[in-house]
Amino acid sequence: MPLSRLTYASRAAEALPPDAIERILAVSRANNTRAGVTGALMYGAREFLQCLEGSREAVNATYARILRDPRHADIVILDFREIERRWFAGWGMHHVPPLWSTRQRLLRYGERETFAPRTMSAGSALALLEDLSRAQPADGDEVETVASAALAPRR
Ligand code: FAD
Repeated sequence: MPLSRLTYASRAAEALPPDAIERILAVSRANNTRAGVTGALMYGAREFLQCLEGSREAVNATYARILRDPRHADIVILDFREIERRWFAGWGMHHVPPLWSTRQRLLRYGERETFAPRTMSAGSALALLEDLSRAQPADGDEVETVASAALAPRR
């Protein structure tokens, strides 16, 4: 079965506390590891950007469960494609810390300095995720400057 990557964006049903994200990640990592699925999840300003990588069958089954989850809505697929290699091999689900989303990085890929994945083109969303996959987690997590305005909800 060929490898595939599905990338989608969605909006949280309500502002989620950090422990809600931790619960989503814990369940995701357990399920994804069993299914051979890897990927990354970004959350900020009540918006999610996620990519799922694995066999076509496993990615579809995972996405079908995610679609039914009442914790988010307005889910849009940004891209689905066959891939030759994974970007996130090694992560059942890599959590992107908010500190990674600096204004400069968001502006590189988006219209504004805010995290608004639902308005991004597929190309920009994929470029952002590829950029993330190249970052060394330990460095990327620790050294970025806080840009709280970048993660403020859009008006
Ligand atoms: P449980 O975790 O036991 O859940 C059973 C049911 O309860 C599910 O229908 C679930 O949607 C619902 N549920 C669980 N907790 C809550 C809650 N706090 N509020 C409301 N309903 C709840 N799952 C993955 O396996 N892989 C992923 O990569 C993944 N990514 C996700 C990304 C996002 C943005 C969100 C919101 C969810 C994600 N999930 C992911 C979770 C997924 O939607 C399902 O909840 C999960 O896969 C079901 O796991 P489970 O069968 O072990 O059941």
